[in-house]
Amino acid sequence: MDSGRNGKTKEVTKMYETTKNLMHMAKKQHTAVIAFICMDYTMARAVAYGAEAAGKPAIIMLYPDHVKTFHTAGFAGYAKMAKELAEEVSVPVGFHCDHDFSKEGVLRTAEAGFDSVMMDASEYDLEENIRRTGEVVEQLHEKGVSVEGEIGHVGLACEGQETQKDLYTKPEAARKFCEETKVDALAISIGNAHGAYKETPQLDMERLEAIAEATDTPLVLHGGSGIPDEQLQEAFEKGICKFNLGTDYLARYYEAVEDFIKESKEKKDPVKVIEMPEFVIKRLTPYVEERLRTLCKFE
Ligand SMILES: [Zn+2]
Repeated sequence: MDSGRNGKTKEVTKMYETTKNLMHMAKKQHTAVIAFICMDYTMARAVAYGAEAAGKPAIIMLYPDHVKTFHTAGFAGYAKMAKELAEEVSVPVGFHCDHDFSKEGVLRTAEAGFDSVMMDASEYDLEENIRRTGEVVEQLHEKGVSVEGEIGHVGLACEGQETQKDLYTKPEAARKFCEETKVDALAISIGNAHGAYKETPQLDMERLEAIAEATDTPLVLHGGSGIPDEQLQEAFEKGICKFNLGTDYLARYYEAVEDFIKESKEKKDPVKVIEMPEFVIKRLTPYVEERLRTLCKFE
């Protein structure tokens, strides 16, 4: 409860919001919500508080490999952490789990408390992708969990795959995929790729418009690091509702850790390591705030 200007108390809305609702809010306003890859509490906290500073919604996003291979958190612990952070701030914040490639993986993540997951069967042909994704959607919708799928294939920037047009999403395939699987969001390939681009990418805006025309399902852009802001803003106006940002954000983390080590070298006190998360958070929060203010039009 909060005290309103007229002295009456007004209900403060709970600020945790589902990724599905955040994407629909974005779609209505012809903008996108940014999903930041967060490997740990330090990154997630900077997203929640950066969002609050900007006065814009945001999404805390886990890349499952960070848990499975690098042990940065546990799935259930991560879900609780993200929700707790979302409830600390006064802007809508959601959480989501990025690329899982198997039914077992996605079900495990949902079981751990995530209300939004991604089932990526884009390595298969369209029919098999529909079969695998549709099966997961059916099971998870019963549990109130939303599912993002992918068609076409978002390749690797280090291999220059953003220019490989045979990987691009076809509008007719997008329509069929969304109708048959009933996914809640669709990741598309329109000249974007994961990781660091060697050359400035050029998004295929005509294709984006045709896909947005073909389906009402909120569209998602992966591989956001390195795409010029003007292209991103245009893509948001033309139908991208969620935008995944990973590589750039992780690079900021790395730089902040480097600076912390440089600055604390003289002190020679190993216990100083406990000050590192707060040092990094102070560096990451303004980055998140700036990205949200620059790219997201939310009123
Ligand atoms: Zn991705």
